[in-house]
Amino acid sequence: MTDAPLLSSTYQQMLSVIESVEPRIAEATRQELTDQRESLKLIASENYASPAVLMTMGTWFSDKYAEGTVGHRFYAGCQNVDTVESVAAEHARELFGAPYAYAQPHSGIDANLVAFWSILAHRVEGPWLQKFGAKNVNELTEEDWESLRSEFGNQRLLGMSLDAGGHLTHGFRPNISGKMFHQQQYGTDPETGLLDYDAVRAKAREFQPLVIVAGYSAYPRRVNFAKMREIADEVDATLMVDMAHFAGLVAGKVFTGDEDPVPHAHIVTTTTHKSLRGPRGGMVLATEELAPSVDRGCPMVLGGPLSHVMAAKAVALAEARQPEFRTYAQGVADNAQSLAEGFLKRGANLVTGGTDNHLVLLDVSSFGLTGRQAESALLDAGVVTNRNSIPADPNGAWYTSGIRIGTPALTTRGFGHDEFDRVAELMIEVLSNTEPGTTSAGAPSKASYTLGDGVADRVHAASAEMLEKHPLYPGLDLA
Ligand code: PLP
Repeated sequence: MTDAPLLSSTYQQMLSVIESVEPRIAEATRQELTDQRESLKLIASENYASPAVLMTMGTWFSDKYAEGTVGHRFYAGCQNVDTVESVAAEHARELFGAPYAYAQPHSGIDANLVAFWSILAHRVEGPWLQKFGAKNVNELTEEDWESLRSEFGNQRLLGMSLDAGGHLTHGFRPNISGKMFHQQQYGTDPETGLLDYDAVRAKAREFQPLVIVAGYSAYPRRVNFAKMREIADEVDATLMVDMAHFAGLVAGKVFTGDEDPVPHAHIVTTTTHKSLRGPRGGMVLATEELAPSVDRGCPMVLGGPLSHVMAAKAVALAEARQPEFRTYAQGVADNAQSLAEGFLKRGANLVTGGTDNHLVLLDVSSFGLTGRQAESALLDAGVVTNRNSIPADPNGAWYTSGIRIGTPALTTRGFGHDEFDRVAELMIEVLSNTEPGTTSAGAPSKASYTLGDGVADRVHAASAEMLEKHPLYPGLDLA
C-alpha cells in the first residue's frame, strides 16, 4: 500500500516540474484525475492501474533503444532492459502457466500482428521450407521467394465477426487482418446470441483456415477453448486466442479448465491494461514451437520496445500474482452478474440474456434510442460507457443499438453488489428519460436527443455519493 502523503507530494512535485515546461499539460493531467474521480467509469476495456504501475512508466527507460530480444539486441548497453524484459516475461509465464511469454508488443493490435506474422513465419520455416528442399531461408532462390510470397498472401483466417463481439483484427474486412488474409467470420446463434460451436465447426470444415481466432471485445459470455482447439485440430489450423478483454479473469483464476485459453491455444495475445490492470500495452504467450518466431517480433513487426512500459508490465504482473488479485477478479465477475440482474429486473434487454464474464451488452432499442444517443445522454449524466454493435445491428457500427458496460474499473474502486445494482437503476433512469431528436430537416436523427430536465443532476448527485465512499487513489491530493 502506497503511503498517501508521500504519493501526494511525489505527484505534486512531478506536476510542478511539468508545469515549468508546459503548464497546459500539467493542467490537463490534473483535470483528468478529477474527471476520472467524478465519473462512473464503465468502459469495459478500462481500469485504474496502481500508483506503482503508473510511476514505473515515468522513468529514463523511456530513453533507451533496445531492438531485438533479451541477450540479442541491435544496440549496446541494454543490460538493464534485458532485466526488465526477462522479469516481465517470467511473471507472465508463471502467472498464466505459459511456456513462453513476449512482453514487447506496444498494444493489443501489435500483439495480434506479431501473432499473425509468427504463425506465417513458422509455416515458412517448417513445411514450406521443406517443400523447396531448403534447410533455411538463406537457401531459397528468388523463384522460391516469389512462390512463397503468393503462399504467404493466400492464407485463410476465420474469426468472430465484429457485430457478434469480435475485434477488428479478427478478420474484419477493412482491417489489415481482413486484407492480409482471406477471411471468413463466424457469428452467434440468432436466437440465443450464444456462440454455436457446431456452426463454427461447419464453417471451419468448409473454409479450411490456417488460423482460427477466438476471443472477443463485446461478447458477454465465456468461451470453451477446449472445443475451439478441437475444431482447429480437425482442420489443422493454428488456434489463436485474443484474451485482451478477459486476461484479468484468466490471471485471477476465474476462468479455468476449458475456459482458460492458455493450455488450449497455440498462441495467446492480450492487452495488459484492461481487466489485467496494468499499463497500456500488449503481450503474446506461445507454445515452445512458436516461441522462436514470436521472439523475432521486434524488429520484424514492431518498432523498438517501450522499455518503461515493459517495466510497468512487470510490476503489474507481479501484482496480479498476489492472492488479492484473485479476489479482485472474482469481484469483477460477481459485479457483472449484479449489474445484469439490476438491468433484467427493471425490464431491460441484454444480449444473450445476461453475462458470465466482466461485461454486459445492453440493447437500447427498447428505449427507442441508438447506441450513439444512449452513450451521449449517459455521458451528460456522468456515466461513461461506449456504444457497441449488437448482432445483426440495424444501426451499423457507427450509431449502433447497444451499450457495452464493464465492471473492471469500478470494482478496482471497491464497488460491490449494491452499488452495481444502483448503477443499473441510474442508467435506466437516464435512458427512460431520453427522447430521440430530429435532424434539421425534421427527419428522425440517430445522433441527437433530449435528456429530461433535472435527470443529469439527479444522477450526478447519486453517483457522487457512491464515488465518495470509494475514492480513486485515496489520499492523493494534487492541490
Ligand atoms: N483485441 C481485443 C479483443 C480488443 O478488445 C482490443 C481493444 O479494445 C484490442 C485487441 C486492441 O488493443 P489496443 O487498443 O491496445 O491495440
